[in-house]
Amino acid sequence: MYSLNIVYKQLKDKIYEKLNENNKSFYIDCFDETELVHLDEKEAIIVTPYNFNKSLLFDVITEINDSFFDLLSQDVSCVIETTDNYRKNYIIDTITKDLSDNLLPDYSFDNFIEGPSNKEAKTAALTCAIKPGEKFFNPLVIYGDSGLGKTHLLHAIGNHIKQNDFDKKILYITSLDFVKEVGKSLRDNTIEEYKNQLNSVDILLVDDIQFLSGKQKSNEIFFTIYNELFNNRKQVVLTSDRPPVQIKDIEDRLKTRFSQGLSVTISSLEFETAEKILELKLKNHNLDKNSIDCDVISFIAKNFSTDVRNLEGALNRLLFYSINFSKGQKINLPLALEAFKDKLEYTSYANTELSSKVIIKAVADYYNLTEKQLISKSRTKNITTARHIAMYLCRIHLDYSYEKIGDDFGGRDHTTVLSAFEKIERLLKENELYRKIISDIEKIFTT
Ligand code: ADP
Ligand code: MG
Repeated sequence: MYSLNIVYKQLKDKIYEKLNENNKSFYIDCFDETELVHLDEKEAIIVTPYNFNKSLLFDVITEINDSFFDLLSQDVSCVIETTDNYRKNYIIDTITKDLSDNLLPDYSFDNFIEGPSNKEAKTAALTCAIKPGEKFFNPLVIYGDSGLGKTHLLHAIGNHIKQNDFDKKILYITSLDFVKEVGKSLRDNTIEEYKNQLNSVDILLVDDIQFLSGKQKSNEIFFTIYNELFNNRKQVVLTSDRPPVQIKDIEDRLKTRFSQGLSVTISSLEFETAEKILELKLKNHNLDKNSIDCDVISFIAKNFSTDVRNLEGALNRLLFYSINFSKGQKINLPLALEAFKDKLEYTSYANTELSSKVIIKAVADYYNLTEKQLISKSRTKNITTARHIAMYLCRIHLDYSYEKIGDDFGGRDHTTVLSAFEKIERLLKENELYRKIISDIEKIFTT
């Protein structure tokens, strides 16, 4: 492989030798901003930014072709193009051939659940997808911890633009792939072609830019590509696991560029968003909401909502468990507890001595409340019911007096405990649902 720059320097010397003394200096100026961008056994392409110079250079095409022959001992036919035309007509061809957009069609805005934790990021991403290239959010940077939907949003932007504007050239790439590709093209002397390819896209989506850290050459090249795109009002969207200013070992001038547009963050999921995501994922598994008890959804949302990948993993485990152990029956809390018994600390009730504290925790977990809420003075209906059930269970499973139970439930009077006990006893006689709830909770602290 030739280095195009070296070949071109030698070539220009040959051309200048052949030119007439009268117009030599004029032509040297003409060649000044030209570039040799392609060379194979048969064809070479020289580009100039100016249309006017294109025809002037064409006047000396014989000298150019002869110089190629002198240099390479073979006939090469040279094409002169303007930089713009070259990008449109040649690079695009190569890109569509060599470089797909890498977009994953499954990631869309439609299947991205919005909640307070990601609303800002989703809105910014959607606005950018509707109006790419606006200065206000160029670049758009989405940052946040792993598993919270950054990659999803990046693809969603690409897919949205792709659907609405066929002409736009889009490229999704991870920064690690970029670093690899830069390394490879430097070794192969094709870095100019790679740069041209990236410079010719309309939308560049780069995932996980924190991995540019410490990669000096890639930093430099990314900087020039970024500037070229930005100056041509092409949209750049980046994701990172931290605010760009906090990425160590990337050039300051890059950090400054990254802060030029809009930075938005995604934070940890809140419980309600986690629940909605789970419902969506169930739908994706072709399961309807009735095949799973709603308290199981709450249980997973509560215990695995640190990130969505975690949540998906938990759901998959549960579905796997249900297929293998409950033969497709409705998925209930005991099954979920069984499926996660190694994963959750609080399910190891088996070796714990039973006490009011254990029962309170089990009931709180079942109802997705905190222990504090359960023994609080709150009169919210589901908290009161949970509290009465816990008192009832303490009475029948522990040899505690009503007074002792009252003390353990935040210093309540023994008559309160007594009436709670009687109420639950009555409900158990009348209502099948309560029998089921009680037995599900008992399973929690007896297994
Ligand atoms: P990140 O890039 O931030 O590490 P991803 O975008 O890879 O996270 O998200 C991990 C998984 O969670 C993906 O399967 C993604 O579709 C899903 N996901 C994340 N957030 C949401 C959301 N708000 N709605 C639906 N799915 C989501
Ligand atoms: Mg990601």
